[in-house]
Amino acid sequence: MELIVNKHSSWTVEDAEKLYGVKRWGAGYFEIGPNGNLHITPDQANPDMRIDMRAVIEEIKEEGIQFPVVLRFHDILRSQVAALNEAFISTIEEAEYQGRYQGVYPVKVNQMREVVEEIVDAGAPYDYGLEAGSKAELLSVLAYNTNPESLTILNGYKDEEFMRLALLARKLGRRIIVVIEKFSELLLLVRLAKQLDIKPLVGLRSKMTVKGRGKWEGSGGDRAKFGLTISEIIKAARYLESEGMGDCFKLLHFHIGSQLTDIRAVKEAINEGARIYAELYRMGFELEYVDAGGGLGIDYDGSQSTSDSSRNYSMSEYVADIVFGMKEVCDLEGVPHPNLVTESGRAITAHHSCVITEIVGEIRANSAEVDTVAVEGEHYLVKNMRELAETVMSQNNFQEIFNDASQWKEQAMDAFKLRVVSLEELGKIETLYWRTMVGLQKRLKAEEFVPEELQELDYNLSAQYLCNFSVFQSAADTWAIEQVLPVVPVSRMNEEPTENCSLVDITCDSDGKIDQFVMSGGITDVIPMHTLKPGEDYYLGLFLTGAYQDVMGDMHNLFGRLNEVHVFSHDDDPQDFYIEEFVKGSSVEDVLSIMQYNPQFMAQTVKREIDRKISEGTMQPREGVKWTDFYEDCLSGYTYLKRARQV
Ligand SMILES: *Cc1c(COP(=O)(O)O)cnc(C)c1O
Repeated sequence: MELIVNKHSSWTVEDAEKLYGVKRWGAGYFEIGPNGNLHITPDQANPDMRIDMRAVIEEIKEEGIQFPVVLRFHDILRSQVAALNEAFISTIEEAEYQGRYQGVYPVKVNQMREVVEEIVDAGAPYDYGLEAGSKAELLSVLAYNTNPESLTILNGYKDEEFMRLALLARKLGRRIIVVIEKFSELLLLVRLAKQLDIKPLVGLRSKMTVKGRGKWEGSGGDRAKFGLTISEIIKAARYLESEGMGDCFKLLHFHIGSQLTDIRAVKEAINEGARIYAELYRMGFELEYVDAGGGLGIDYDGSQSTSDSSRNYSMSEYVADIVFGMKEVCDLEGVPHPNLVTESGRAITAHHSCVITEIVGEIRANSAEVDTVAVEGEHYLVKNMRELAETVMSQNNFQEIFNDASQWKEQAMDAFKLRVVSLEELGKIETLYWRTMVGLQKRLKAEEFVPEELQELDYNLSAQYLCNFSVFQSAADTWAIEQVLPVVPVSRMNEEPTENCSLVDITCDSDGKIDQFVMSGGITDVIPMHTLKPGEDYYLGLFLTGAYQDVMGDMHNLFGRLNEVHVFSHDDDPQDFYIEEFVKGSSVEDVLSIMQYNPQFMAQTVKREIDRKISEGTMQPREGVKWTDFYEDCLSGYTYLKRARQV
């Protein structure tokens, strides 16, 4: 698609909004302020509260914290927890639904302690609970979900220790429900429960025939990894009954996938789940809960569509489809309305964090020019290319110019390998080639029709801005599953962005780049950014990273975790904010230790070599101490690029 870069100079922030579409994915939390800086409204219930992102960055700099940085807005987390719970409460009231909503937050989506604590705290008035999918998660959930009213839901495959922990929690009076993923788990649970004489609460996960659409559609259907078939559910329920534990069966669970893009999948799943619930109820199993799993999607690209990075519904439509869908089936079947559970993770956490990184350089194919004046006896390819570069602004045969230039550039390389063209001549040809391309690009701007091949010129001539971060650490899904995440500059949006850029990271991996951008007209491979000014920092934000991205990063190139800054707003001053917590990112030592290196040993080895040079007299002792200290400082320092020190 074509980029809509405004050509006139009377650029306004409205134009920037049109270009970047911040409001479309910002969900009321992010917008472009009148001063051209990105503004955050962290609490939907308090629209006067506004934080200027640039001010947050200045404060971070003042505190001496190095970029890149993860910013966490705790108020956004709280606001999302409240929004989901309030949506259920009001819909349940409107529908005259008899059950209540008791949601749980699945910690795998973001297990950071501060995140889980904030969610538990914000969810306390609603008895909002937690979901765990592994033993480590269960251990943490046991310690953090202490509200006796809220649910703890246990999914995933379980071993004996896992089951014992669940039974311990029952003993402590928790509402902890073990969701059976495969039949053999039930045998284990029943055996342990009898042995320890503790009554468990049991859920059965149904393998649904409905498939969610989008990247995770494999979570449903016959080949789904988790869940019981209909015949297994009946067998499991009967087995519990025969063991005198029929009344332990409390919950029916299903989860058809994450990031459900199409609301129809939700409607179908609710319908199917409600039917199974109703039949089980009439068989004598008086279940208290129906758990519709996760899947509430995020509109990452702002298109409100069924594209993989979007969704064609809102949170309130999702909630209404669950509540009214359950009610309809239950009323028809004459069974009570069960309490409703959902396990929304992405929807709760995605908005609350973003990554702020600075641009540390730019890469251009045509950045260096050599002297191209004609010399006696030069190769004819140099001469030809010079002619093209000189006439491109006056000729109209664009395609022909493009073809000739490309062909001659290729021929020049062949000739160079055959030792017919010299290195200096090749340099001239390269310079002249790019000059021709820049000329062509200028000429084509005025054209209505641009031949297909020539449309690539914009991309080939675009700058690559080098961002101080690792895609593999901070935006794993953009690489792994082509998830689109919004990227925008955090300031200068009242200036026209004139550079079409792609973004590359500082890893040595050529996959370490972002080349899919959310623009208001669709997804593009380049993003308009501002020209870098010498001596002035330029910061970019990568948004909606709070779900999965925050905690999924890998150790690619040993960059490790980012510095983190937790931002809170002031109740008394709506423009003000404070940074309460700074969590240090990985040091070089940290990441090396994880990979089984011994940083102390490394430092000693380097020091020994330096000492030898000193005793040999090839290094001054004073200088040696300096180098030793420097090596050790680097070991304990941040893994990402440091700004050049001003000397
Ligand atoms: C991952 C997962 C979730 C969370 O899904 P979201 O799409 O992030 O809401 C919920 N339940 C189960 C069983 C999961 O595996």
